[in-house]
Amino acid sequence: MLSNIRVVLVGTSHPGNIGSTARAMKTMGLSTLYLAEPKVEPDGHSIALAAGASDILKHAITVGSVEEAIADCSLVIATSARSRTLDWPMLEPREAGEKLVGSALNGPVAIVFGRENNGLTNEELQRCDYHVAIPANPEYTSLNLAQAVQIICYEARVAHLAQVQSTTEVVAVEADESEQDYPSSKERENFFEHLENTLFSTNFIVKNHPGQVMTKLRRLFSRTRIERQEMNILRGILTSVDKVVAKNETKDK
Ligand code: SAH
Repeated sequence: MLSNIRVVLVGTSHPGNIGSTARAMKTMGLSTLYLAEPKVEPDGHSIALAAGASDILKHAITVGSVEEAIADCSLVIATSARSRTLDWPMLEPREAGEKLVGSALNGPVAIVFGRENNGLTNEELQRCDYHVAIPANPEYTSLNLAQAVQIICYEARVAHLAQVQSTTEVVAVEADESEQDYPSSKERENFFEHLENTLFSTNFIVKNHPGQVMTKLRRLFSRTRIERQEMNILRGILTSVDKVVAKNETKDK
């Protein structure tokens, strides 16, 4: 089940951090590493720092964007040293571990880490369901990348051990049924694209002056954690609006 928890490193620029990340993951029982648009490939330095975890490096999957790395994930948590800059739904590291482990029973989930120099972009952060900030010294909040990975992976391990223990105590631990009903990241992106296009066509959003509407709507849907069925209803509503708009457009011609 821990193998369903994907660690995504975005734009990493130090090979050593990729190696140390692999080690941090393996000590906690995680194995799936994605490198999204890395600035460097794993090298000898990475292997040295990975120590006995070079198998994780060997199997690491390199992709061109965060979007690609998380496309099939029904839960995506972003990490940020800066808390609340976007006022997004926040989790404590412990809650993040619990959510990752709970949702991993149903399929892939991701925890996303940013660039050493400037973290994740706002756009990348807005693609995630939750943000987690490790409550560090407020005067110096920025941990080394691999050390941040270690802390979150540790929390996932703690949650995993608690779950295993409760199973052996014959308390049936079943996947949170509703988890199965959450759309994947890709499905959510398709929905937002549809929503934006419909709002353009009704002129609710003006193309050259889009403002903050889409960001606010993304935040709203992150906060409610919309389910797949609910999203399908909304897509149906959008399609019905699209039809009326198209009909009016042909009438106007
Ligand atoms: N200067 C950057 C910090 C980047 S540190 C910034 O302002 O965002 C590199 C990465 O390590 C971050 O993107 C995040 O993924 C992780 N990280 C570092 N400190 C963290 C903290 N206190 N909480 C959560 N993640 C942290």
